[in-house]
Amino acid sequence: MSQAFDHIVIGAGISGLGAAHLSARKGFKTLVLEASERIGGCIHSLSFAALGGFWVEAGGHTCFNSYGNLLSILDDLGLTQEVKPKPSLSYKLWRDGQRCSILSALHPLEALGSLPRIFKEPKAGRNVRDYYSAILGSRNYQDLLRHAFQAVICQPADDYPAEVLFRRKPRRKDVVKAFTFDRGISTIPEAIAAQNGLEVRTGQRIERIERHAAGFQVELADGQILDAAYLTLAVPPDAAAQLLPRGFEALRDLVARIPMSELETLVLVFRREDLKALKPFAGLIGVEAPFYSAVSRDFLPDGGYRGLAFHFRPVALTLEEQLQVACAALGVGPEQVIAKQRVHNRLPALRAGHLGLVEQIDRALAGERLGMTGNWFIGISMEDALTRSRLEHRRLFGG
Ligand SMILES: Cc1cc2nc3c(=O)[nH]c(=O)nc-3n(C[C@H](O)[C@H](O)[C@H](O)COP(=O)(O)OP(=O)(O)OC[C@H]3O[C@@H](n4cnc5c(N)ncnc54)[C@H](O)[C@@H]3O)c2cc1C
Repeated sequence: MSQAFDHIVIGAGISGLGAAHLSARKGFKTLVLEASERIGGCIHSLSFAALGGFWVEAGGHTCFNSYGNLLSILDDLGLTQEVKPKPSLSYKLWRDGQRCSILSALHPLEALGSLPRIFKEPKAGRNVRDYYSAILGSRNYQDLLRHAFQAVICQPADDYPAEVLFRRKPRRKDVVKAFTFDRGISTIPEAIAAQNGLEVRTGQRIERIERHAAGFQVELADGQILDAAYLTLAVPPDAAAQLLPRGFEALRDLVARIPMSELETLVLVFRREDLKALKPFAGLIGVEAPFYSAVSRDFLPDGGYRGLAFHFRPVALTLEEQLQVACAALGVGPEQVIAKQRVHNRLPALRAGHLGLVEQIDRALAGERLGMTGNWFIGISMEDALTRSRLEHRRLFGG
């Protein structure tokens, strides 16, 4: 027997949960199917039960008051009042075996000489290396910006599209500039999934999807058949290309052109007293290092522990080698690590000209009851993902 829904969303990262939230709030019977046993995707406040629930962000760690779509969901859920401000701690560079200040890598004269070009250098269609070398100088790009950008996007920055990296968005004055929650960013996906009128099933394997006259039929590996008038794919582009039903071959070819970047995250926890020599800091930016960045949990101090997530390049370092690298950067011995866990993260590797590709994808989706969302349309931040989910919601359901 088949079950019928108004809207099935595939993928329970923030994009999919955002899409589901919007349709469920409009009264559509909405189901989310997630492959993994955990919801949240790249949002993962990794909690250590043996350490009294001390947690470290293994993925997305900061939300801003410019995240209007995210904030409107938090308003709906009554969560806006619960945000915890993040103090502005600074990052350090990890360069040539030393922790040093970010300013130590800046070439101020070159920056001053290049900066006036900011007004005439076009951004559209250019990659990060070309655009930022032009407006701040190529030495500043090579020695500083490149590494800072890599730390932000957790992947090589040179070929990333400049127009997608940062975008000015209006700020909500009633909300603190940067925030998290007492239990970390995972509070958001968990609250979306827990609300009435929205069902989330984890550990789901989708065998095939077929399009029919009144919508879509989803067949699960356990033989269940689910029908839906509308379907939204909220999975990475490689997974979306695999899931697309017959009849969407041209769309599949476009989506398959977006590559993914892999990263290995190593989360480490220390006793507070063992990291005494290290002042509270936001984290490290790796300069020609095996890791792009290390993000600390110091923004929400804990009485007993300190934690960091090291985001490693996908090179073949063993766990022991990663531990050595991370502990050297913190100036401690591996024996002082009291808890550790590795997490595999994936992010889209967008390329110059990406927005043109998205236009083609949107043309192929026009008039269909199929939505597509994710962090691979507008940009990779949580807000970019939710902006896409809202645009697709309007296209499918109106308003
Ligand atoms: C280390 C790191 C740090 C970051 N820091 C920040 C930050 O501070 N601020 C910020 O705004 N953004 C940050 N981001 C980016 C942001 O967290 C992500 O881009 C965003 O959460 C992605 O959401 P998504 O739903 O589009 O994709 P994902 O989170 O990747 O979710 C996709 C979901 O689809 C599921 N799935 C895949 N295939 C299938 C299938 N066949 N069937 C069913 N389900 C499937 C996956 O299991 C996953 O749950 C960070 C990302 C990383 C990795």
